[in-house]
Amino acid sequence: PLSTTDHIEPHRISVCVRKRPFNKPEITRKEIDVVSIPGKGALLVHEPKQKVDLTKYLDNQVFHFDYSFNETATNELVYKFTAKPLVQSIFDGGMATCFAYGQTGSGKTHTMGGDFTGKQQNSSKGIYAMAAQDLLRDYNGKVYDLLNKKTKLRVLEDERQQVQVVGLEEVYVTTSEEVIKIIQMGSSCRTSGQTSANANSSRSHAILQIVLRRNDRATTMHGKFSLVDLAGNERGTDVSSNDRITLVETAEINRSLLALKECIRSLGMNSDHIPFRMSTLTKVLRDSFIGEKSRTCMIAMVSPGLASCEYTMNTLRYADRVK
Ligand code: ADP
Ligand code: MG
Repeated sequence: PLSTTDHIEPHRISVCVRKRPFNKPEITRKEIDVVSIPGKGALLVHEPKQKVDLTKYLDNQVFHFDYSFNETATNELVYKFTAKPLVQSIFDGGMATCFAYGQTGSGKTHTMGGDFTGKQQNSSKGIYAMAAQDLLRDYNGKVYDLLNKKTKLRVLEDERQQVQVVGLEEVYVTTSEEVIKIIQMGSSCRTSGQTSANANSSRSHAILQIVLRRNDRATTMHGKFSLVDLAGNERGTDVSSNDRITLVETAEINRSLLALKECIRSLGMNSDHIPFRMSTLTKVLRDSFIGEKSRTCMIAMVSPGLASCEYTMNTLRYADRVK
């Protein structure tokens, strides 16, 4: 297992996996753990009650990622190996993006947003807050924050292929406490309000962008960190719903997650053609991907239980294909 003293390899694109611990209902149901983290980057999905034997399952059940985090990993540890290494590229005026991917309930929001119930403020800080803290600590009061609080935004592309999100609100902040307040506001917008189109957070992507601007005598430096809590990926296999809106949303989520995979893959292969236009999500994130200094990290979240095994395999196959 990883420790905070481990050396971190710098990657242009890194793909990691995090297994969450069982929750109380799962423990009560005596759910069976089918996910093991046997090494630094490995993850094994095994049959219940069988001893974990790496060699036996090498064919299709072992996955290898840059880093894998077991159920004892803290948000701090995950941050150190995923988003933190990207912070320097923001200071260098580059772009960086960190995604949380996985089925609903696998820990995406826990990892990105932390827990804002107010009870355990210290123990449950997420990647948003830690990234904001690091950016502010090293850059004293020059951080801008883009926060989408509106329910209806328009994504437009101009003739120079610059993407504009019309209606987006930008908030100037000077302390990480202010950032956390904004994140709290955004999080509650996302999870509350039954009438809002985004009532169900598992059906929307949430993007927090932290923009760094410095006007030196000669240059305008511009770095941007995009932190993305993606919609739940389980909809891809949900065909039981007849609800029209759900079906339309499902199609859009599927399209955007597929587009995201294709874009990251193309980036990894240094392809000239990055298929940004495939979805709204990838259009919005377009300029975060491009440029020599741009860096991307995907954290795939998995639930430990046998009941989630099918979703877990889907998540792992997706993450495996990204790189
Ligand atoms: P998602 O955003 O992927 O739908 P959540 O982040 O909301 O999932 O997680 C579902 C539940 O599991 C929440 O109650 C969350 O606090 C808990 N949880 C997720 N990951 C962890 C973890 N690593 N440690 C402890 N609790 C977790
Ligand atoms: Mg969530």
